Amino acid sequence: MQRSAEEIKALDRRHVLHPNVVLADHARGLPMPIMVEGQGAVLRDIDGKEYIDAIGALWLANIGYGRKELAEVARRQMEKLSFWSLFWGYGNVPAVELAARLAEIAPPGLSHVFFTSGGSEANETSIKIARLYHVRRGEPSRRHIIGLARAYHGVSYGAMTATGLETVRQNYEPYVGAFDHIPSAYCYRCPLGKAYPACGVACAGELERKILDLGPQNVAAFIAEPIHGVGGVITPPPEYFPRIREICDRYGVLFIADEVICGFGRTGTWFGIEHWGVVPDLISAAKGLSSGYLPIGATLVHDRVYEALGQPEGPGAYFNHGFTYSGHPVAAAVALENIRILAEERLGERAVEMGRYLTERLRRAENPYIGDIRGKGLMLGVELVADPATGEMPADPNVGRYAEARCREHGVIVRALAPGNIIALSPPLVVTREQVDRIVEVLDEAVRYVFEHPP
Ligand code: PLP
Repeated sequence: MQRSAEEIKALDRRHVLHPNVVLADHARGLPMPIMVEGQGAVLRDIDGKEYIDAIGALWLANIGYGRKELAEVARRQMEKLSFWSLFWGYGNVPAVELAARLAEIAPPGLSHVFFTSGGSEANETSIKIARLYHVRRGEPSRRHIIGLARAYHGVSYGAMTATGLETVRQNYEPYVGAFDHIPSAYCYRCPLGKAYPACGVACAGELERKILDLGPQNVAAFIAEPIHGVGGVITPPPEYFPRIREICDRYGVLFIADEVICGFGRTGTWFGIEHWGVVPDLISAAKGLSSGYLPIGATLVHDRVYEALGQPEGPGAYFNHGFTYSGHPVAAAVALENIRILAEERLGERAVEMGRYLTERLRRAENPYIGDIRGKGLMLGVELVADPATGEMPADPNVGRYAEARCREHGVIVRALAPGNIIALSPPLVVTREQVDRIVEVLDEAVRYVFEHPP
């Protein structure tokens, strides 16, 4: 017998331990929808209410919901070969095809692919490969990983320790050793108290300072999202990553680009770092790789890193790393089909066009509480302020959360980011103009309302 909506909600409260939730609120019945259907950028919940998904679930529903092509590919692959692993050199065809396709679309030289089940595992892999690279090259003291203060890299121990956001790390000490952080390139509220461009991108210079403090012989890698996602859609200026690349090269430090959000068309290009014209040594990817249809991630490895990993030849160069689901054939087949759709429907170009439209519409709303609109393609952030002229923080830092709740009531899902006054917008790349109009209309009203009617 099918359970009623109310029964499902009661079972959810009783049995499901949700990620990122105030447990007591959930147990009391915090009214968060349980979704049952999706098509394009529209979701329907268990009570039949419809929403425009303005966040692509978790920044990932790039091709939109309900694509039959992916279901068909998954079904065929499950019937043919549901699983075989890549351990010890075995293979499966979809994993090979996907690795080859990723090598085609990646920045030049990143032609070796290690598969994971998601973004945290991809970052663990990138971090471990960076350390292994230096071990193989005879510099085992190079262990330190330097990240950014507002970075989010995941919740497994290495990825969490690389994460700078305190809200993600707190309560879970002791962390993994040899991780350090430098200020982010947050021009709207410069952590160094400077102003762009007069600053000369001093925040990139902080990397050099940190490397020299630690001693270059102790530093393995620098890791950064091209654009911070969870940390506030913080978008570095054009000079930033070229300077970072230069500093990394000067001191023999590898550069890991965490493309878990920025990849696969979300910012308009295959990989976000392309906007800065820089080639990283390692790329961590996930999310848009399958548009969330199945869990899959990947670490892309530059040829020169790969070559060092295999040295010196012989049993000593055994690559001791692997997850059960590395290269899952069904997930790989689905990711390949997702990439085919992204390319065929030119969804990267669409992200640029719709991102521009969304930004323009937001500006035209002349909302007196929006201080900054930033990002690239359809990875946008809106910073709410008490006064746009001064950028003064809202008196109540939770305004973003109140606006998020009001938008949801009115059928639009947005997300408030830490510290609570930044709204993320990252709808499926297939979002329509009419849906963008509605997102802006609802968000504009909600922001005005929460500022003008404090709880
Ligand atoms: N890196 C970035 C930039 C992310 O935004 C996320 C997740 O939001 C991760 C890594 C972690 O990915 P996952 O949750 O798939 O482990």
